[in-house]
Amino acid sequence: MDERPRFLADEMLGTLVKWLRIMGYDTLYAKDMKDGEIAALAMREGRSLLTRDKALAKAVGGSGLYVISDVIEEQVAQVAGGYGLNFDASYTRCALCNGALKSIPPDEARDEAPARSFGMTDRFFRCQGCSKLYWEGTHWNKIKERLRDFGL
Ligand SMILES: [Zn+2]
Repeated sequence: MDERPRFLADEMLGTLVKWLRIMGYDTLYAKDMKDGEIAALAMREGRSLLTRDKALAKAVGGSGLYVISDVIEEQVAQVAGGYGLNFDASYTRCALCNGALKSIPPDEARDEAPARSFGMTDRFFRCQGCSKLYWEGTHWNKIKERLRDFGL
């Protein structure tokens, strides 16, 4: 079984949600949900709740983390430190929908990916949730640089 921690993050933490997914952690985004619903979902699915709301963090006891900072670098550092997270590209999930990414042969990406991407990589991925196509191009290198800024 997958022992990696899974998260639920509140509405204030949209950017953090994307980074956790890129880092490879299953992270739901609690948008337009009441505090009680958020706490219930975290408990039901065994997810650690990340929140900017101290009271809400308390409401779920030990499985909540009050995120102290508004600054993304500090948020990533706090969560990564608190849960012992690291970046593993083979676990990366869709930043948009949290879907798992599946490796696909370049031929299957031929109609969608820009021609220049085929000169840069032969690694293409399809999101199993929303079908978005990903590949390891220049954008991917920027992501890796940014993760290094975060200390990962
Ligand atoms: Zn997706």
